[in-house]
Amino acid sequence: MSTAIAQATPLHPVQGASELASVCARHPDVPRLVVLKTDVQRRGVHYTDRALALLDPERHSVTGTHIFGARDGRIAPRPESLLLRDGSSIITTPTPLEQRPYVVDHVDGRLALVDGGAPIEEVEYWPRPDYYAKRTRSGLPMKFVVSARPQRLNVFPYRHCHFWNDGEGCLFCDIVPQLRKGKDDLGIPARLDPEDVRETVAEALREPGRFVGICITAGSNTRGARPFDAEVDYYVEILRAIGASFRTPRFPSQLIGTAFEPAQLERLRRETGLTSYTADLEVLDERLFSWICPGKARWVGYREWKERLVRAVDVFGRGRVDTGIVAGVELARPHGFATEEEGLRRTLDEAEELASRGVSTVFIVWSPRPGTALAGQRNASLDYYVALAEGLHGLRARYGLPIDFDDYRHCGNHPDTDLSRLLRP
Ligand code: SF4
Repeated sequence: MSTAIAQATPLHPVQGASELASVCARHPDVPRLVVLKTDVQRRGVHYTDRALALLDPERHSVTGTHIFGARDGRIAPRPESLLLRDGSSIITTPTPLEQRPYVVDHVDGRLALVDGGAPIEEVEYWPRPDYYAKRTRSGLPMKFVVSARPQRLNVFPYRHCHFWNDGEGCLFCDIVPQLRKGKDDLGIPARLDPEDVRETVAEALREPGRFVGICITAGSNTRGARPFDAEVDYYVEILRAIGASFRTPRFPSQLIGTAFEPAQLERLRRETGLTSYTADLEVLDERLFSWICPGKARWVGYREWKERLVRAVDVFGRGRVDTGIVAGVELARPHGFATEEEGLRRTLDEAEELASRGVSTVFIVWSPRPGTALAGQRNASLDYYVALAEGLHGLRARYGLPIDFDDYRHCGNHPDTDLSRLLRP
């Protein structure tokens, strides 16, 4: 790569590259690209003007629904995210330069991740799916109805979360500030019409061989005869609209919803083609759950949330149920674990109890964003995240839990499930 171009790249302390190398050396069983991806998610990215000049909305995915915010708080047409040479994704967002993100630059004719002024890995922008250029019959741009990762379709049908009505949204979340921005700046409706979803999914699936699964998620809706019945009603409508594109009764799908009661789960299974279920605990500790997820704690509670996950295994089967955590938030100030050692040990202990009962735990890297209650805090060290990825992967290996529905192709946002390609049967 050309020295002249590398010198023109914004310079930051070189600590990053050496930290990456030393973490790789300490975790020889974790591929370097997984460590790098984790670090890019941890630190975020800054796109240089040269890199942005290569972004072609006709060929690349440009940030679409903005359901969650960027670390720099902006809504702007920027690359949705990045692809690595091994075909895995880095899901990350633009981050202010003073926070020392990786830099994405145009170096010697290619896009590269640059750190400390040195290019360290080639990357690509996500390819734009064909349907992004189209509109539904109601006139809505299809890219606002269903967003695409490299191999998965994401449907975010409801952009409000009722926990916020009582000031009980999760402390790391910015769904409601983003709902306002999405409505005002982009004209995205808070609640999608299932017919728009049906049309868009049908159009997306015309592109041969690209998508391996569909993920549906939305904010929690506490309404209904029993809490969350309204959320289930709407998911049934949306899943049936998606299912209209399939000739088989079941289709590859993941619902990330609230922790539903068994009767609600059975209804989802019976009335739709849903094949896997996720209900995010966000943090694996009862005391921290009550602090960080006050709405979930009041409406369901930590222990009951776990029990509902275990009961979901009876409905969807082993290897078809997991819970997500926002890794690093368990260390947030002022109530988080005092040390990373304690955070790792306590998180893996809880994850093991869940794994022993058939429930996988997957993590995303906590990215402190300006519209959240924990804005301005720092996430954990790279070593912490890599050890957590190894630990969670190791639990799945020990308890024989497949994670195909949430792996590098179906999701791409979990460093721990990137390791499932190494999992022995
Ligand atoms: S449940 Fe928590 S993380 Fe999910 S949308 Fe509501 S506030 Fe955000």
